[in-house]
Amino acid sequence: MPRAAPKRSLPLNAQTILLVVGVFLLSSILWAQATRIVLPWQEQPLRVWMLNVGQGDAFFIEFPTGEQMLIDGGRDDALLAKLGSLLLPWDRTIDSILMTHPDADHVTGFISLLDRYHIDHIYETGAIATTPQGRMIVERVENEAAIVSLLSAGDVIEIGEVVLSVVWPQETYEGTEVGDRNNTSLVFLLTYGDTSILFTGDAEEEAEQGFMGDVGNMDVLKVGHHGSLSSTSWDLLEILRPEIALVSAGEDNPYGHPHPIIMSRLEQWKTAVFRTDFQGDILLTSYGGEPKVQSSPLPF
Ligand SMILES: [Zn+2]
Repeated sequence: MPRAAPKRSLPLNAQTILLVVGVFLLSSILWAQATRIVLPWQEQPLRVWMLNVGQGDAFFIEFPTGEQMLIDGGRDDALLAKLGSLLLPWDRTIDSILMTHPDADHVTGFISLLDRYHIDHIYETGAIATTPQGRMIVERVENEAAIVSLLSAGDVIEIGEVVLSVVWPQETYEGTEVGDRNNTSLVFLLTYGDTSILFTGDAEEEAEQGFMGDVGNMDVLKVGHHGSLSSTSWDLLEILRPEIALVSAGEDNPYGHPHPIIMSRLEQWKTAVFRTDFQGDILLTSYGGEPKVQSSPLPF
């Protein structure tokens, strides 16, 4: 009788590696389920993260279609760490990025991002900053195999039922070096059903006067220029009357952002204020009705 071949088992090291990989994959999936992945038969909400990237701006948007967009990239690599929490480990593609203006606290994070992630579409005004970060971002955009669209007032981006309507600046700045870049900021209205959010970059009062006639009552205002006194004029608040204000500013930043006068102005309009310097990462969720906003810290 032939002898049965001895059962072969994997060496202990291989078993340990398989176990570790298995636990890693399982915990990644559970983490994703717990935080952002909705089962296929469930309705996907619009999710807007105001990421706590210190003194700067970085917003991550997940549309109900599943598409992903970044609005500004912050002043350093903090954005990459945040994406490590938001995206699955093997996800290296983001559908689009939008640069409101080329100041370092809005585009520096995009320099490393463009080295590590594949981006399909880049939206910007074309304004150029003659700073080291400004030059590097121009080079990275040129090297990325992405569609580059220069936006100005009147342009509209539709992603499923979400509409982004640009209200500022009046014209694009293709290849123009600009000194005062804050007022070149792309300002746009995001609407999804009854939810409306105004993104303002670092637009100051001069720009606000220019786009004021094209906006109305708003659910949410991304407060301009980190809450600086140069933005969020009383005239603008009178038109917007926002229920919620989002402020992105670094903890104990040297500029004193957000300014106490702007905070008291918002208080007078009974606007609920959410700040990255106090509350960290902020998540806005909408199914097309009343948006829900909450502090929702990411692990990184
Ligand atoms: Zn800024």
